Amino acid sequence: MEKKYPMFTEEHELLRQAVSEFVEKEVTPYVEEWEEKEEYDAAAFRKMGELGFLGLRVPEEYGGGGTDYWSVVVLFEEMIKGGSSGFLTAIGVHTEVAIPAIMHYGTEEQKQKYLVSAVKGESLGALAVTEPEAGSDVASMLTSAVEDGDSYIINGNKIFISNGARADWVIVAAKTDKEGGYNGITEFIVDTDTPGFEVSRKLEKVGLHSCDTAELFFTDMRVPKENMLGGYNKGFFQIMENFQPERLLVAIGSYGGAEIALQAAIGYAKERVQFGKPISRHQHNAFKIAELATKIEASKELTFRAADMYNRGVECMKEVMMAKYYASDIANEVTYEAMQLMGGYGYMMEYPIQRAWRDMRVMTIVAGTNEIMKLIISRNLGL
Ligand SMILES: Cc1cc2nc3c(=O)[nH]c(=O)nc-3n(C[C@H](O)[C@H](O)[C@H](O)COP(=O)(O)OP(=O)(O)OC[C@H]3O[C@@H](n4cnc5c(N)ncnc54)[C@H](O)[C@@H]3O)c2cc1C
Repeated sequence: MEKKYPMFTEEHELLRQAVSEFVEKEVTPYVEEWEEKEEYDAAAFRKMGELGFLGLRVPEEYGGGGTDYWSVVVLFEEMIKGGSSGFLTAIGVHTEVAIPAIMHYGTEEQKQKYLVSAVKGESLGALAVTEPEAGSDVASMLTSAVEDGDSYIINGNKIFISNGARADWVIVAAKTDKEGGYNGITEFIVDTDTPGFEVSRKLEKVGLHSCDTAELFFTDMRVPKENMLGGYNKGFFQIMENFQPERLLVAIGSYGGAEIALQAAIGYAKERVQFGKPISRHQHNAFKIAELATKIEASKELTFRAADMYNRGVECMKEVMMAKYYASDIANEVTYEAMQLMGGYGYMMEYPIQRAWRDMRVMTIVAGTNEIMKLIISRNLGL
């Protein structure tokens, strides 16, 4: 029989099996502990490096797998099954946000220094763009980088930075031309042991507990010129371009998280008997489940379409935004309804649906809010 998804080859299936085994052994048993202490074990990250999972798309000359984007889809489809969107986020920020930025914009020296160790699981990366006063409006950021001899002196403050408390290096976006707006931002790779780099606090979140989120301060932080990433005053455009893999990651995590939540709800609804029959046999619930399953299928298809375009190097900004916004909206609807189907039990901490509901909530906010997705989609439609 023909396969439902022909893009997944034999090699992808072997990768799926390897990731699935890793998740079963090295993630699932530890999720409760990681969520409790609000960070995953570094050993799991290093193991992913050893297994080659951190650089699937990175060219082989830098220690990566040199594979296509479908391998990334496989990786995160399997990782979400471990039950920790927080761990998936921490790894995803490293592999789909920090690594691609170095891969696309880094100099040869930067790739040798940062990319090679990142792929091996020997260094952890992060991206710091958001500031307390500059979220959706990236160009209004205040962090400044001022040229001084063979360095830039960076001063400022970043907030909500995933991996920020544990990263070995952070890509920091700063204003190199105060009046330049979109054309005045430059990115720098900053080693986190640079004097003047400070993690001021680890933020407490509603969900994604296995992933740390930090507020950072930079005080007279001297960064060598050779650590400039990409073009001078080109940072804004690099950030926008690099949003593609980050938004695809959110879309994959969203339909994957929704699938698991719905499966849990279906299992529960078939067992739970009220008014003399399983609650799944009350037509309202059966129809609700059918609707949710259809919406998940639609978000998966939309994501696969965007992933296919991205994989083939086709311009796909609009399609990626549509997938991110739709899949994350649906993941929120599904986790909300799955909890509703489980009644009072669903609201109890001992049932994992509460974590899925908390974790999926942020998917409409991260990687650009869904309102910003709609704003740019509408502009793309000529509005
Ligand atoms: C868990 C988590 C992890 C994160 N990780 C990172 C990270 O690693 N690196 C990083 O740099 N950032 C990170 N962020 C920041 C994230 O990208 C921002 O939170 C997001 O871009 C929104 O910015 P904001 O929170 O300042 O909200 P604001 O921009 O203040 O928006 C507030 C509300 O106003 C709406 N709004 C804003 N402008 C418009 C408009 N023009 N039209 C209509 N509505 C609008 C928004 O949609 C939102 O609903 C993270 C955030 C969270 C919560």
